Amino acid sequence: MKMKKLAAVALAVVMSVSMLAGCGSSNDKKSAESSTSANGTATVKTAKDGVLTMATNATFPPYESYEGNDIVGIDADIAKAIADKLGLKLEIQDMEFNSIITAVQSGKADLGLAGMTVTDERKQSVDFTDSYATGIQSVIVKEGSSIKSIDDLKGKKIGVQLATTGDIYAKDDFGEENVEEYNKGADAVMALTSGKIDAVIIDNQPAKAFVKTTDGLQILDTDYVQEDYAAAIQKGNTDLLNAVNGALKELKEDGTIQKILDKYIK
Ligand code: GLN
Repeated sequence: MKMKKLAAVALAVVMSVSMLAGCGSSNDKKSAESSTSANGTATVKTAKDGVLTMATNATFPPYESYEGNDIVGIDADIAKAIADKLGLKLEIQDMEFNSIITAVQSGKADLGLAGMTVTDERKQSVDFTDSYATGIQSVIVKEGSSIKSIDDLKGKKIGVQLATTGDIYAKDDFGEENVEEYNKGADAVMALTSGKIDAVIIDNQPAKAFVKTTDGLQILDTDYVQEDYAAAIQKGNTDLLNAVNGALKELKEDGTIQKILDKYIK
């Protein structure tokens, strides 16, 4: 756990240094990796001509959730900004979190963007872009719960969203028999409210969103694991990977990514 945290902190430092270094360069200078031509037409091949298809699981506010019929949030805005840079139209496909990697692997989707944590295991199936945000696995309990620290979770029933890093870490640290998997984070939170489970391990931003809209819940002060979010891209599709990384670099340098994060994370 300590190693993961250290690595994440080191990465954050490197990222802010490189962002500072980028400040001096002109904004309209195209980065070397970008495969967008001068007139803004994309030269990169995608699943559907002229379209950037994003696979996500829209139950993860403030990264992706429904507002009426629209999927909104940090990832939706970032994908739109990337698509604009590449001269593509954005289409979002909503699916189970569990299906996103398969959709990217098979080439049905160009981009898996879902508050997805970079892990070594996932790297065996997909490539990841540069990171655009950090997440923290946190623990939700009922107000007044006897669970005050991570250690108190031992032997307790823990709810998680299926196939997320919270699921993987919880099973590793507290045993499979103590972990209940739900298709949606919101379902795990409902199970906590009704007393079926004792705690929920989930990313900090959705945790805050759920606690805000549900009475009687609180987030433990101690963070469980810190991690990096990135977009998943089909393994070996270096043209698309470089194009998206080029767009991301420009969007970091011109402050767009920070603006989008600030819009949703107050
Ligand atoms: N960051 C977590 C993961 O990648 C959860 C992502 C999500 O539920 N959308 O596993």
